[in-house]
Amino acid sequence: MKLLLLAGTCEARTLAERLTGDAHFDVIASLAGATRDPAPLPVATRIGGFGGNAEQERWLSHNAIEAVIDATHPFAAQISARTQALCAKLGLPYLQLLRPGWSEAPQDRWTWVTDAQAAADALPEGATAFLATGRQTLSAFAQRIDCTLYLRQIDPPTQPFPLPRGDYVIATPPFSLKDETNLFKSLGIDVLVVKDAGGRAGSKLAAARALGLAVIVIARPPQPPGDKATSVDEALAWLERHA
Ligand code: NAP
Repeated sequence: MKLLLLAGTCEARTLAERLTGDAHFDVIASLAGATRDPAPLPVATRIGGFGGNAEQERWLSHNAIEAVIDATHPFAAQISARTQALCAKLGLPYLQLLRPGWSEAPQDRWTWVTDAQAAADALPEGATAFLATGRQTLSAFAQRIDCTLYLRQIDPPTQPFPLPRGDYVIATPPFSLKDETNLFKSLGIDVLVVKDAGGRAGSKLAAARALGLAVIVIARPPQPPGDKATSVDEALAWLERHA
């Protein structure tokens, strides 16, 4: 079976590893190209956007794709919605591998918001905040010049930090609880801002809990309809049923 694996998460990587050498599946992974120098995947990989809806439809047909597993990030709403709709149109089995979201413990001080702008609005006056929300969200915080903002990203920036107070923090995951705790202490962080990404990147939340920091959590966007798996094992079981 010829399978398109929409990648960009550690679950996609694990799934690619588990499918390597399985003669039943001919896997092509697809990365958006958002990270400059992504670690190679152990399957054939294309990199870059498809170029829109019609181009992606053409690509699926041209490459004789027979099923799609969408293991993109829970906040990659455009590619997921579009791919689900295209698969429905073309009659292709589509599965979204969507890891469970995070939930707060009784001692946590979390505030849930709907998007990055609402997160910026929710920052207390003069806060020192750590933004683990991706570089695309930084513009939403542009008005909060009363705050000191640290934005973590993987790639070194090509431009200076655009806000008067704060900086980029360049680092590649995974991060341990000790790493996160030391980082937040050294920067004097009092608020952590995260997306409800779910999965293993929970060390920052554990560090915030240990330090008693307030956390602003951006809720997930709506997900497309269709089959869902919450783990790589569930995705493999779905594949067995559709092979
Ligand atoms: P998005 O808003 O859903 O998609 C934007 C555009 O990026 C799509 O229209 C498509 O371009 C292209 N694209 C996205 N994922 C692709 C893939 N796997 N293969 C080929 N093209 C893809 O996505 P996003 O939020 O910008 O995220 C981009 C990638 O980064 C995703 O693969 C996601 O898994 C990963 N990521 C996102 C986040 C996040 O917080 N959003 C965090 C970590 C990783 P065309 O229209 O040109 O086809």
